[in-house]
Amino acid sequence: MPTSEIHKFYKKGFKERLEIVKEFASLGEEDLATLQKFGAMDFETADRMNENVIGTQQLPLGIATNFLINGKDYLIPMSVEEPSIIAAASKIAGLARNTGGFKAEADKPIMIGQIQVLGVKDFEKAKKAILGKKRELLKKADEFDPVLLKYGGGVKDLEVRKVESKRGMMLVVHLLVNVSDAMGANAVNGMVETIAPEIALLAGGKHRLFIISNLAIYRKARAKVVLTPGLLEGSFSGKCRFVKGPEIVEKILDVYALAAADQFRATTHNKGIMNAIDAVAVATGQDWRALESGAHSFAAFGKNYGPLTKYSRDKEGNLVGEIELPIAVGLVGGAVKTSPVARVAMKIAGVKSAQELAMVMACAGLAENLGSLREIAVRGIRHGHMELHAKNIAVIAGAKGEEIDAVANQISREGNITVSRAKDVLEGIKKEK
Ligand code: NAD
Repeated sequence: MPTSEIHKFYKKGFKERLEIVKEFASLGEEDLATLQKFGAMDFETADRMNENVIGTQQLPLGIATNFLINGKDYLIPMSVEEPSIIAAASKIAGLARNTGGFKAEADKPIMIGQIQVLGVKDFEKAKKAILGKKRELLKKADEFDPVLLKYGGGVKDLEVRKVESKRGMMLVVHLLVNVSDAMGANAVNGMVETIAPEIALLAGGKHRLFIISNLAIYRKARAKVVLTPGLLEGSFSGKCRFVKGPEIVEKILDVYALAAADQFRATTHNKGIMNAIDAVAVATGQDWRALESGAHSFAAFGKNYGPLTKYSRDKEGNLVGEIELPIAVGLVGGAVKTSPVARVAMKIAGVKSAQELAMVMACAGLAENLGSLREIAVRGIRHGHMELHAKNIAVIAGAKGEEIDAVANQISREGNITVSRAKDVLEGIKKEK
């Protein structure tokens, strides 16, 4: 068996790395050719962004259309491999134009940095000592990042918390930092590292970790959309034909009620929201893991895990959809400026601040969620989703070139979008040829 223990892989050149991986995984010449197609990101850029690079993973970059947010038109770039996300979001955004589009807002970009202090004997005394030196501590933390100050950011406040743990009581300081147009992790990590020794000294303990928290409760984005029943009604292929608006509203409220009451459903409900938010994050070079952890943690913050969107019916019978979640994204830092596609995606998004990007992402999440709920409530997710997925199924079944569309169309028409049926159809097509 070949070993994965490779001495200084990171120091090897691109070709040498490829040779090693080729041997290890028995890759063919075609596989190597695929890895060497760098597309929009050359090897040098990719190698600067990460370690041990041997290629780039590519995803389709699509555009969600129709978005009208706070009166401004947006095309929203989304990089994701799953079909129907862009379609669902664009569909709802198109309907929402009839009622004025989305209304959105975002909090100031305040992130939390944590400092853990151990061995504190008297919490209240330690807290008083730290808060007594607050002004000096904030000033010292600010000195770490003069560039951030120049762009209107900087440390805003400091909180002291007591956390009971299996290893005893811990004093935890939260440093609240306005990170302006950055996501802020590196900036905040540097600041908490700078003041951790002094905090420990004031508290009469030892500092242990100092790092950003991804539960960005002070940096939430919110969006709202109102759709009349008439906008939601329509024809659905598959089980149902025409479904009237009030009935669709009723059905959406039914499925939403399950998400609000049941964690199994709420998890999938939120997955749908993050389908779109992550897709915008990947397209624009954001840290989508940070967004994911923040979103799901917020969904259970101070309560049972629940949905990140809320649906209700107003007095006129309209469906009202709302979303609220932390969205920590930046226009600078991370991969935003280094990834060439992210730079273009950011231009397409046309946002002028991190707050504006957060608002756009919240709207994308809400639109995708509502689009999915409309499908799920009426005919099940598989119909719309699988119709779009039919081409992938055709490829899995072995279809090539023109066969792909022919197979996909037939299995969609039959409503039997399975690999086994696709194989039969493909065989039939080949025999006819
Ligand atoms: P960064 O350090 O690359 O860039 C931010 C810096 O850019 C600021 O500190 C500031 O000095 C400067 N800057 C220039 N113009 C600015 C403007 N208009 N507004 C604000 N700052 C401006 O990036 P970051 O945003 O501090 O950190 C993000 C990166 O950290 C991401 O790549 C993320 O993956 C990574 N990271 C995340 C975590 C986490 O989420 N837990 C932990 C560690 C690292």
